[in-house]
Amino acid sequence: MSERQNLLRHLPAVDRVLREAELQALTDQLSADILAEAVHQHIDYLRRQLLGGGASAVAGAALEPAAIANAAAAYCRDLLKPSLRKVINATGTLLHTNLGRAPLAPQALRAIHDVASGYSTLEMDMSNGKRGERYRHVERLLCRLTGAEAALVVNNNAGAVLLALTALGRGREAIVSRGELVEIGGAFRIPEVMEAGGVLLREVGSTNRTHRRDYVQAITEQTAILLKVHTSNYRIVGFSGEVTSAELVGLGREHQLIVMEDLGSGLLTDLSSYGLAAEPTVGDVVRSGVDVVTFSGDKLLGGPQAGLIVGRKDLIRKIAKHPLARALRIDKLTLAALETTLRLYLQPCQAARAVPVLSMFAAELQQQKGRCETLRQCLLDAPVAAEVTLVEDVARVGGGAMPLTELADWAVAIRPHHLSVAKLAARLRDYTPALIARIRDDALLVNLRAVFAAEDCLLAQLLVAALVGEESC
Ligand SMILES: *Cc1c(COP(=O)(O)O)cnc(C)c1O
Repeated sequence: MSERQNLLRHLPAVDRVLREAELQALTDQLSADILAEAVHQHIDYLRRQLLGGGASAVAGAALEPAAIANAAAAYCRDLLKPSLRKVINATGTLLHTNLGRAPLAPQALRAIHDVASGYSTLEMDMSNGKRGERYRHVERLLCRLTGAEAALVVNNNAGAVLLALTALGRGREAIVSRGELVEIGGAFRIPEVMEAGGVLLREVGSTNRTHRRDYVQAITEQTAILLKVHTSNYRIVGFSGEVTSAELVGLGREHQLIVMEDLGSGLLTDLSSYGLAAEPTVGDVVRSGVDVVTFSGDKLLGGPQAGLIVGRKDLIRKIAKHPLARALRIDKLTLAALETTLRLYLQPCQAARAVPVLSMFAAELQQQKGRCETLRQCLLDAPVAAEVTLVEDVARVGGGAMPLTELADWAVAIRPHHLSVAKLAARLRDYTPALIARIRDDALLVNLRAVFAAEDCLLAQLLVAALVGEESC
């Protein structure tokens, strides 16, 4: 018998490995099938190594039941670790798309809990006990807050745009300026959405300038919609010009066309009081006479992911009746969070306090600097083997909104002595909660603008643990 065959014979049986304490400890959380499969896979792997590379490919100790149990248990523990987990966002980007955009107000979280933990009035009209519409929970609020006649909500704004275009323009043409053929993250491109919705795109003007006459010349019998898209994630500067919403409305009235605007972010309050460039609010656009306005729930509004559609009653009804509306419908948890968030806006001061993105905007520079100083001191006292300095920084809105806006800010720059910055960042990503910060000039840049003050202490602990060299936290 060859040595290789001899080794193969020494591979233990799956049942033998399963008796090892390390796997027995997992039987509460994982089924016997899953544990057995994990062991089986590892034994298979060892067998392939032995057959391919001979006896020298695998150390004898690796064939021991305890060693195999060890490897299988590591795989199993990884399976049990939550993949979608909490992150402390120290990037300075408030609406970080990869980190879940807007955090919710505490009131919205309570509403989700209340609605999710039992039954709710989702589709029951409590005045008569009959079936009701889920949209009515937010329609009145949205009308109050934007001045629109009617409102509808769906799963997200991409869905809102697709639904509105399909319901109002399928088989006909929508005219859009070439300067507004937007692509946003996740391959959402206005021309492709129009195609998916069966609406023919009629591009007019040039990238940097589009005039009223460009629209006029493009209008035919086939035209159904004049579409304006807010260039939320880029700006065309220099020799540029666009037709305003109000001008499009005039044109739409003249030719009996629907004027629709995709606002992207959708502000409900004027942000200029925060020292930010004035962006049109949803109310401004509705007041300008635009027939249908779409915007996101989880960008500057600071609520859950949702697509909000407000506008003329007859058009909103038509959109709501389209079969696609059912496919894109909003779920009850989102609805609970959205209703609560919108209600906060009935008193703007309350929204400013409770909606996290708004309070992050409002944070004073001096206060941010103070928090950074405390963090720096905390790290120096630990002490950690790193150079820790305070540096000037800027925070950004993110989420494809207000791309040019920079909020003056401070950050803590950390340069570890015995560790690469990349390794430090990797360790922090592996923790629960994970800590995500930027890397600049070979330093980890920790910006506290999007970190909740109540989490400053935990953030410091995570940094100390990672700098001291703990692999898990
Ligand atoms: C963000 C954005 C969308 C998509 O909104 P989601 O809520 O992410 O689906 C559509 N149009 C514009 C202009 C946007 O900025």
